[in-house]
Amino acid sequence: MSTLKNALRGSELISGTDALPYLTDASSAVPEKPLAVVLAESPEDVATALAWANEHRVPVVARGAGTGVSGGAVSITDGLTISMERMANIISVRPADRLAVVQPGVVVDDLNRAAAAHGLMYAPDPASSATATIGGTIATNAGGLRCLRHGVTADNVLALQVALAGGRLLRTGAQSRKNVAGYDLTRLFVGSEGTLGVVTEATVRLRPAPSGDNVTFQVSFSSNADAGKAVAAVMASAVTPEILELVDRTTAKLIEAYTPSGLETKASATLIGQIISESALRQARELRNMFEQCGGFGFKSSADDSLLGARRNAFAALSAHGMGVAWLASDAAVPPSRLHELLDFIRNIQERHSRQISVVAHAGDGNIHAAVSADSTKPGDVAEAENIVELIAIHAVRLDGTVTGEHGTGSLKRHLLVHALDTVSYDVHRSIKQALDPLGILNPGRGI
Ligand SMILES: Cc1cc2nc3c(=O)[nH]c(=O)nc-3n(C[C@H](O)[C@H](O)[C@H](O)COP(=O)(O)OP(=O)(O)OC[C@H]3O[C@@H](n4cnc5c(N)ncnc54)[C@H](O)[C@@H]3O)c2cc1C
Repeated sequence: MSTLKNALRGSELISGTDALPYLTDASSAVPEKPLAVVLAESPEDVATALAWANEHRVPVVARGAGTGVSGGAVSITDGLTISMERMANIISVRPADRLAVVQPGVVVDDLNRAAAAHGLMYAPDPASSATATIGGTIATNAGGLRCLRHGVTADNVLALQVALAGGRLLRTGAQSRKNVAGYDLTRLFVGSEGTLGVVTEATVRLRPAPSGDNVTFQVSFSSNADAGKAVAAVMASAVTPEILELVDRTTAKLIEAYTPSGLETKASATLIGQIISESALRQARELRNMFEQCGGFGFKSSADDSLLGARRNAFAALSAHGMGVAWLASDAAVPPSRLHELLDFIRNIQERHSRQISVVAHAGDGNIHAAVSADSTKPGDVAEAENIVELIAIHAVRLDGTVTGEHGTGSLKRHLLVHALDTVSYDVHRSIKQALDPLGILNPGRGI
């Protein structure tokens, strides 16, 4: 350790109780005792730490804000956690190029505020945007509410600087709007969950912030599947809302109990959405017609977007619900046209197993967070709930979708990968991993 300490130029190395705030994430994954945590101050120090770890075969966990829900940033026995918390500078915002260059520890909302000063926005907005970092959201390819219209993180990253396992610094992509020189290494690192390298700088795309009238709406459905069919009708039309989310009755009741916000709680499912444009009022009328043709009722709209805050509270509302209740989260994604089939499957499973399941979805993106409740004091109950999560993931793949849409596999969902990747795909993944991290020091046991 002392060789690493001496080699670092400015970054602090901490351990013991000082390191405790850096060991967990927002999941149930149990942290292990690491050797130390590096509070990195520069790309060069991250590279130095990686070179040292490679030489000594020490596992490395890159860490943003620890809001991940798959156990990806949780500390590893005798490993080195590298925290990006102190690398939080917005290096430049360049309106003419519609981009920003940032360090990985920048919090998503901070970048958005800096972009807003120029009439721009950084589009990916996970519900955790008040704390999640750019590095963490790149490593998980985070989605969010307005990703329906403006793309997920992968669609908004132009270039990266990445510290590789052996300690070299790699630059991918370019700051031009177009680039086909070489393989698209930027995309390779997006979503790689800290298993291929540590992101030390990112050039991200900024987009004009939407302008015009704001229509935020909710509409109710007497079955979740009908709400799913309404989403498919919207996606087949010429209207793409900024946001189109689904909240089922179980979750709506929990959210309203947590913070009352006027969210409908009696209907089986409620779609919450937002349109911002010069023709928002006309588009809202068109959407209302589509919803009503699919059985929607009780359409309400306003210019006040507190309903979106209610949707963002879903995770906190679940976490606050009841002692001894564990929620096992699924993050499956399907094409929007098949959303109603996955929602129906979940309803069937819920009835068959007489078990409470909370469903929220980035509905326009076909990405469902079904949280299966379990009594953590009852032997075998958590395992049965885990089995249900797996059945949902398998069914999503049958519907041409995937086992995780935005949370990543981390350590907790890794076993689901077998349903999403075939043997050829596994082989290619392993070859890439071998090429970039031959000694397997980067986040072992997570991701692929
Ligand atoms: C209330 C709440 C709401 C959420 N809502 C959403 C949502 O709407 N959409 C969504 O996609 N997710 C959501 N999440 C999950 C989580 O916020 C995201 O996965 C987020 O991208 C994690 O960012 P982080 O900075 O906290 O990363 P961490 O949790 O610290 O790390 C996540 C993963 O990224 C890796 N990593 C972190 N930094 C780097 C780096 N610089 N280089 C390489 N690898 C790195 C870690 O090793 C780990 O594997 C939510 C979580 C919570 C608690």
